[in-house]
Amino acid sequence: MNPLAQLDHAHVWHPFTQMRDWLRREPIVIASGKGAVLRDIHGKDYLDANSSIWTNLHGHQHPKINSAITRQLKKISHSSALGFANEPASLLAETLVSAANSKLKTQNPKLGKVFYSDDGSTALEVALKLAYEFTRRTRGKLVKPRFLSLDGAYHGDTIGAVSLGHIDLFHKAYGGMLFATNKVMSPYCYRCPFNRAKPERSDARKYRKCNWECVGLVEKKFAAQKKKNNSYAAFVFEPLMQGAAGMIPQPSGWLGQVTEIARSHGALLIADEVMTGFGRTGVTCHVDDKTIVDVSEKPMAAKLFATGRVGIVPDFLCVAKGLTGGYLPMAATLTTQRVFDAFLGEYEEFKTFFHGHSFTGNQLGAAAALASLEILQTKQSVLQRAKLQKQLHEELQTLWTLPNVGDIRQVGLVAGIELVKDWRTREPFALRERAGIRVCEAMAKRGVLTRPVGNVIVLMPPYCTTREQLQKMVSALREAVKKSF
Ligand SMILES: *Cc1c(COP(=O)(O)O)cnc(C)c1O
Repeated sequence: MNPLAQLDHAHVWHPFTQMRDWLRREPIVIASGKGAVLRDIHGKDYLDANSSIWTNLHGHQHPKINSAITRQLKKISHSSALGFANEPASLLAETLVSAANSKLKTQNPKLGKVFYSDDGSTALEVALKLAYEFTRRTRGKLVKPRFLSLDGAYHGDTIGAVSLGHIDLFHKAYGGMLFATNKVMSPYCYRCPFNRAKPERSDARKYRKCNWECVGLVEKKFAAQKKKNNSYAAFVFEPLMQGAAGMIPQPSGWLGQVTEIARSHGALLIADEVMTGFGRTGVTCHVDDKTIVDVSEKPMAAKLFATGRVGIVPDFLCVAKGLTGGYLPMAATLTTQRVFDAFLGEYEEFKTFFHGHSFTGNQLGAAAALASLEILQTKQSVLQRAKLQKQLHEELQTLWTLPNVGDIRQVGLVAGIELVKDWRTREPFALRERAGIRVCEAMAKRGVLTRPVGNVIVLMPPYCTTREQLQKMVSALREAVKKSF
């Protein structure tokens, strides 16, 4: 075994990994990456089909991001945000604010304040603590603010974030450490008990037959909590698509309806865009080879976020994974003047938000993020993403011939392919059959790397992925499914 792999086996404990299985096989040791390609220490190339666990946007070693980091490196890598401002963090805050607010409103941006942290979990912790204290300060100190999130939700692994989550497998063991939150049905059309349609060879959102019972349940949940004289402080959600829940996309119209309900009950909106942010949920335009025709009225900038794409401005916008283009760990929680103001006061009133991390506002991360956002706003990047989105859709259609593919769910530049025993019955594989893991292992043998969520195979190509590379990703998936069952 390679000496680096040996050291890994001897000492490294991997996240979300059954280490007994891990220790049975020599791991792939990544040595370098370029564009959508990862290279291991033996010189074997793989396609990075999940953008290095949903973080990478423009591919590895993008010259613009590399040089932004190197330029910053020659000035300073890190100084503390406790007591000092710095250049890239200030510039990035302005850029994020203008990206998160539609241009029509830049005079008075609604999300005008940026609290930096390190990763998705901490971005959610910050939103959670701010929303909690804001609610106590505005509704009265005796109130115990309560949160509502979606069934199957995943918002990170720190205790606050885990409390918001509703994936039993991850969360059950820690029940005793968590605070209580409520959950409400999320619109998982493919397996929705209210969907009366028979399975078809198409995205379940398209052929579903229902009466928006899921929205009715959200309304019910809010009404029930109101009766307890403690209306929900905040509604927490991943907009347009839930990631770790199994790539669960929301049917068109759902998000607008439920956020409206939440607002009408006085709840704050916490949008977790850790996965969906920075263009991942797609581009609204028509493409014909060289030109893009923008078909929405909203300016391009606002559409970098899923909430912006559907015209929702939340009270908290949490971003991480793709913020730095996937190069460095950095996160941000954007919020409003209204929330900010609730923490103002005389020093001795101690209304300060007592929260912060050592690397808050890190210069290298901020420099990378600025470069990434600049790339995202170029016409070339928009065109490329629009094309990739279309090509992804075309390639995915070839998978419908497989009897073990039950549902194909694409939102922009991310897709979940749900594996089943038989598409006609939707019968799921038991988790212990490791169907998703087996398919991903077979894909790796074919030079394509991704990680399943249960029985759902994730395809989330870096934005620089070429048509040939995309074809290879999908054909590796097709071959792997054929081989595995
Ligand atoms: C990954 C993820 C998180 C957690 O982010 P980390 O950087 O892993 O802490 C939170 N929310 C969503 C939607 C995610 O996809």
